[in-house]
Amino acid sequence: MIKNIYQPSEENMAQAAQYIREGKLVSFPTDTVYGLGANVYNSQAVANIFKAKERPLFDPLISHIAEIDFLPEYAETDNRALDLAKHFWPGPLTFVLKRKDDNPSIDLACAGLGSIAVRMPNHPVALELIKKSGVPIVAPSANRFKSISPTTAQHVQDSLGDRVDMILDGGSCRIGVETTIIDLTTPHIVMLRAGGMSKEELESYTGEKVYFGQENPNMPKAPGQLLKHYAPRKPMRINVKAEDVEEKEFYIGFGENDRGNLNLSPQGDVNEAAANLFAYMREAEKASGYEKIAMAPIPETGLGLAINDRIKRASYKE
Ligand code: AMP
Ligand code: MG
Repeated sequence: MIKNIYQPSEENMAQAAQYIREGKLVSFPTDTVYGLGANVYNSQAVANIFKAKERPLFDPLISHIAEIDFLPEYAETDNRALDLAKHFWPGPLTFVLKRKDDNPSIDLACAGLGSIAVRMPNHPVALELIKKSGVPIVAPSANRFKSISPTTAQHVQDSLGDRVDMILDGGSCRIGVETTIIDLTTPHIVMLRAGGMSKEELESYTGEKVYFGQENPNMPKAPGQLLKHYAPRKPMRINVKAEDVEEKEFYIGFGENDRGNLNLSPQGDVNEAAANLFAYMREAEKASGYEKIAMAPIPETGLGLAINDRIKRASYKE
């Protein structure tokens, strides 16, 4: 049994920050899911993230920062980006901005693109780790490529084991799905990935239409938005009503009239459902006596957009 889960005590936080500076991999809790973190300026450490996750190198990583004032130093930041950062950060929202630095050491983190993805997580352990490390921390979700994202320290250990040098335990992640990613390199705001910040909230603050998916006027697809992703090791069907569940199918319900083996939110609350999603998919994957998974229909409002995106890809047949 590997012992690499640590409580975020002062001593352990100092150790974790030192590990980051030295180029080791530290997993830490965020408001969305657990991240697998490395020093953005250490390309060997960044490469080790791809290796640990078995993630293709063309998929760029999000940089995590702890202070808004640092954003203009790190990326091309116009007034719109600064204003959005002040309003929505820390929180589950990632910006894609033009790259500033021609610092080649961040090439790998940016997959050689001219853009960089940045966010500020709303979690005290994450923020303290970044501040103590003194460098931006790149962190994708702390799981193997294409499998379910981790929302507890134990999930990280189950998925990555000793491929990660240290796992900081911050309990269960509050939001439970990854960040919403918006492209701020063009005049329109384009949502590249639905996530923990709803499109409605972005539109209500900016007073503008936020484009998503097929509506995207710029349409190069966000790298990494692969069709099959987040997949449990059992076949999964989505949009399944309770009465259509088949034999040996583990049913994940939603809403009060939809009791299954598990229910994402008996009250029909999409935020609660997002927080439970990955943990319940894991339980369904592990449940003995069941060969398949079926998931109830989830409304397309608020975080429902992110949930439907994840489960569509989790159920995709190659
Ligand atoms: P994650 O899988 O949560 O680590 O998020 C990574 C995703 O963020 C990528 O698959 C891209 O969609 C987006 N992303 C990260 N870095 C960049 C970048 N430099 N330019 C454009 N999109 C990016
Ligand atoms: Mg991921």
